Amino acid sequence: MKNCLLRNIFFLLPLTAFVFGFSGVSDYRKIHFDAVVADTHNDVVQRIMKGEDISVRTTKGHSDIPRLKEGGVDVQIFSIWAPPDKVPHSYEYANAMIDSMESLARRSSNAMGIARNSSELESLRKQEKLVALYGMEGAHPIEDSTINEELELQKLDHFYKRGVRYITLTWNNSVSWATSASFETDPANQNARKGLTDFGKQIVRKMNELGIMVDISHVGEQTFWDVMKTTSMPVIASHSSVYNICPHRRNLKDEQLKAIAENGGVVFINFNPGFIDSSYQRKEKMIRANHQTEIEEITKNFSGNGFERDHKISELLNAEYEKIRPSLSILIDHIDYAAKLIGADHVGIGSDFDGINAVPKEMDDVTYLPNITRELLKRGYSEEDVKKILGGNFLRVFKEICG
Ligand SMILES: [Zn+2]
Repeated sequence: MKNCLLRNIFFLLPLTAFVFGFSGVSDYRKIHFDAVVADTHNDVVQRIMKGEDISVRTTKGHSDIPRLKEGGVDVQIFSIWAPPDKVPHSYEYANAMIDSMESLARRSSNAMGIARNSSELESLRKQEKLVALYGMEGAHPIEDSTINEELELQKLDHFYKRGVRYITLTWNNSVSWATSASFETDPANQNARKGLTDFGKQIVRKMNELGIMVDISHVGEQTFWDVMKTTSMPVIASHSSVYNICPHRRNLKDEQLKAIAENGGVVFINFNPGFIDSSYQRKEKMIRANHQTEIEEITKNFSGNGFERDHKISELLNAEYEKIRPSLSILIDHIDYAAKLIGADHVGIGSDFDGINAVPKEMDDVTYLPNITRELLKRGYSEEDVKKILGGNFLRVFKEICG
């Protein structure tokens, strides 16, 4: 009996090593917390602007400083996203968002600091503080309502000085010099001019010169290819996923992914269920159709406040949305597909936490991030590649572009 048990143990040991890989999935938490974890897109500043204090643990949303720490996040890029309805005051609004982050950093100086370059980033990391960086989502605060090239270049300088280290050229709305994916894919704009104008190219070159990462998430395909012909630096996609798995206009086609790798850039995979699961939008539409009257009522009551409207609608539909959440493995499929197509050196994570209404299963909030490490190890990724995906690739492009 005893011999039989021993034999079984000897038989099972190599099998366990085979199933879990030699990096040891059982050590996944250690590997995760040893790694530098960098997430390139988080929208929690919108909650700060509504008066929430994220220096303490909160019960809403997906993140706050204590939860970012618990999820092992070392570097967080906070999105400076002025809703387009703030135009002609989106410049002021973006500045107010940066003010609110500076005030948070002052109040939480023992837990978080804002970095402008790699040496500041490293120094904060050594003090075990959360490193905060800014990424501006959509260049409309630079343009606002005044189309004046000289003024726009000055505002670009201004935001660089305030610490903005990436700019997503467009959000869903376009600017006068770059068209968005929403614009380019709208059949009504079939014959419209698309891509970057000469001034748009000048902006890209100026960003290269200043040391601001050019972010191509949200831009249309024509803008994307114009950027690739113009930039002298690697580009990033701060929060986009794989089109070939989920054909959504916000995702990247294989040719785009390959071009980003050739350029030395990185695509940071978005966790949004609508961008990762090709059946999600259809299921979501069905739920909304079943609640049409209630949704119309909320839309009427919150007509001037899109953010609050969406929040109320998701509150109404939460229980049903819960049932259609995609599995974590679908999210991992996107990371895996991109890493196999273009190499583990060109893939990272851009969660979009606090900017999305739903999240995949086992990824309820930022504290669940170690599950990504576990799943990648299970799929046979080496510890070295996992660490690149978690943050190493971000550190590389950040140093190369922002110094
Ligand atoms: Zn976005």
